[in-house]
Amino acid sequence: MIGELSSHKGEEVVINGWIHVARDQGKMAFFDIRDRSGLVQGVVFGKPEVLEVAKTLKPEFVVAITGAINARPEKMIKTDVVNGDIELEITNIEVLNSAETPPFDLTEDSSDKDEEVRLKHRSLDLRTERMQRNIRLRSEFVKRCRDFLMKQDFCEIETPLLTESTPEGSRDFVVPSRHHPGKFYALPQSPQQYKQLLMNAGFERYMQIARAIRDEDLRADRGYEHTQIDLEMSFVEREDVMKIIEDMITETVEEMGYTIKQKPFPRVTYAESMEKYGADKFDMRTEEDKENGVLAYAWVIDFPFFEKTDAGKWTFTHNPFSMPKAEFIEDLMKGKNIENILTTQYDLVCNGFEAGGGSIRAHKPEIIEAVYKVMGNTDEEIQDKVGHMLEAFKYGTPPHGGIALGVERNVMNLTGEASLREVQAFPMTRKGQTAVMNAPKPLEVEQLIELGLSVRKATDDKK
Ligand code: ASP
Repeated sequence: MIGELSSHKGEEVVINGWIHVARDQGKMAFFDIRDRSGLVQGVVFGKPEVLEVAKTLKPEFVVAITGAINARPEKMIKTDVVNGDIELEITNIEVLNSAETPPFDLTEDSSDKDEEVRLKHRSLDLRTERMQRNIRLRSEFVKRCRDFLMKQDFCEIETPLLTESTPEGSRDFVVPSRHHPGKFYALPQSPQQYKQLLMNAGFERYMQIARAIRDEDLRADRGYEHTQIDLEMSFVEREDVMKIIEDMITETVEEMGYTIKQKPFPRVTYAESMEKYGADKFDMRTEEDKENGVLAYAWVIDFPFFEKTDAGKWTFTHNPFSMPKAEFIEDLMKGKNIENILTTQYDLVCNGFEAGGGSIRAHKPEIIEAVYKVMGNTDEEIQDKVGHMLEAFKYGTPPHGGIALGVERNVMNLTGEASLREVQAFPMTRKGQTAVMNAPKPLEVEQLIELGLSVRKATDDKK
């Protein structure tokens, strides 16, 4: 690996990588050669047959280069870069592939380049140093969190992607069914119900690096797809879940070299947060904290369980499967004092973003039923929506609770990026078009027939 060459001075090596920068100086040619671990400067001189090949090389050519690792003279040493104390004296160049001139300069930070061009050529954009760093840092963050949870006896379990609509408060993406024409699966907005059923199944500690898919209006910190570090635990109270997350985050980010502003994370009630910041998420950093990349985590607790919809009906603020705080269970069961019922929901806030959220759940069917009654559902509607949960919960469901952390929002905070597209390998465009691939796009007529679908032309809507 290029990043390790400096400790092999005097040796001859073969390195594979890309030409990052090429400088032809007549009798000599200089290159920066790049692989996943960094750059090294190489030079060709005094070897006419190698120089001939060297002169054909352009940025992004793929090469296997043989060379001797020479120490640089004292006054030429660069201390601020990897391999700043060595230079590769190139003795052979094998061109593994040529490259056209890229649509933008890959040696520069691409953050101010045209985003459509970056997403169209995403694999090139991902070659840039900042994007490599962001994606690798994301991988490290997720790995450390997973490792932490594994040490705490969590079991990683996958839940279905083709499923039934889950009430997370967004619209569903739906998938038609060839075997059941006219019927649709929904892609999961979260594994919420499955993870609760896993508690019913006796796993006690579940985790998953889960994809959550929601048809939402796109924003800088919100896409159709995001990834969650999703977990659920049995026999816990609110503080137990918060503690495990606090320990996981603290160990993970501190080992990655970050500083946390306040430990234990401050706990702020929803009412205090609204009064102080006018919102349920906030940024506690000073200007100096911002410059130093400090992470200011806090918990927001004691949210109202219900809020009024535009149509004047009650709906849940966060999660219909949550347990109200103990002192409000009676009110909920009687359907009174609805506006004052508080839930066991806890949100993790960091640097102005909601970085995660979860709750202790209602593990008794009658409490779930009462929540759905408050929201105006008839008995039949309740059966239709959550009958499967009510049925499963008849058979000894343990008290349980959980949380999901948004990977992108957490990594945005670690990298200082302002958009989740900068920490996803293949994000959507602002208009909801996939990067590189052409989706969404129309289906072939044969596919529509097979699925029992017909598509109205846009002009039909105007009639
Ligand atoms: N399912 C919730 C969400 O996706 C998280 C949780 O309550 O565990 O936001």
